[in-house]
Amino acid sequence: MFGNSSLDLDGWSLPAKIAGKASRFLARNVRSKALVLHETPPIVTFTFDDVPASACEIGADVLEDYDARGTFYIAGRGCAEAGSGGPPLASLDQLRTIWGNGHEIGCHTYSHPAVSRISLDQLRVELEQNQSALKNIDRDIEVRNFAYPYGDLTFRTKRYLEARFDSCRSVDRGINVGMADLGSLKAWPLESGSVDRAKVAELIARTIECRGWLIFYSHDVAERPSKYGVSPDLLQWAVGAAKMNGCVLATVAGALKLIAAAAVPNDPSYPKTMAAAPPDRA
Ligand SMILES: [Zn+2]
Repeated sequence: MFGNSSLDLDGWSLPAKIAGKASRFLARNVRSKALVLHETPPIVTFTFDDVPASACEIGADVLEDYDARGTFYIAGRGCAEAGSGGPPLASLDQLRTIWGNGHEIGCHTYSHPAVSRISLDQLRVELEQNQSALKNIDRDIEVRNFAYPYGDLTFRTKRYLEARFDSCRSVDRGINVGMADLGSLKAWPLESGSVDRAKVAELIARTIECRGWLIFYSHDVAERPSKYGVSPDLLQWAVGAAKMNGCVLATVAGALKLIAAAAVPNDPSYPKTMAAAPPDRA
């Protein structure tokens, strides 16, 4: 794991011990690919992992009702291992529909292994297979953002992936503020089993206070969701609360563009209309 403290250094030379400790410290503490949130409006992003069919059927519709779009991190092989016994996964046609409606397609791994458990060669193959599978959605698709399956990462895999994607989303709970880490963006689960309206309201309030970037992640969207899913009611409430309180609703790619443009506010590409969206417009 990223914060593994169980490495046995007995028998190592002193230089090797020092190097090992330094590497572990870096893994925990160094943002090797920084994202500076400067003068940005509060941003809320809704993401779905794997993804279950209901995320496309219901989740995308809820977002579109608020003129918002989400980011869907796809495991191209259908997330076979993780999905066994779980909710049915999205079809290619469903992915084409959400892509056509303006949602972002992001990258998971092809067959959903934790990246920390495979070699870099295996990871490279997983990424190539996934990119190839996602080209079936649209051959011109560009997949620029990644989410770690199970939120599991090491410093080695983080460095590898952050060099290949604009961002990598973790499941480390938190709001991205100030100097954020593009190699391990913080996020918060939007799961009906562990989060309620009060918690969502608290998170949105904190995001507004610190002008941060709050990324929710979920899986299925159903009246009786899995332990990793969300009900349509809670999802709708969260999207509405974020929008009505003046947050910008953006995909991961959209948020990165907004943050980059905010760093140079005179840039003509700065999406002022997004930032200036009236808070009570549903
Ligand atoms: Zn996953």
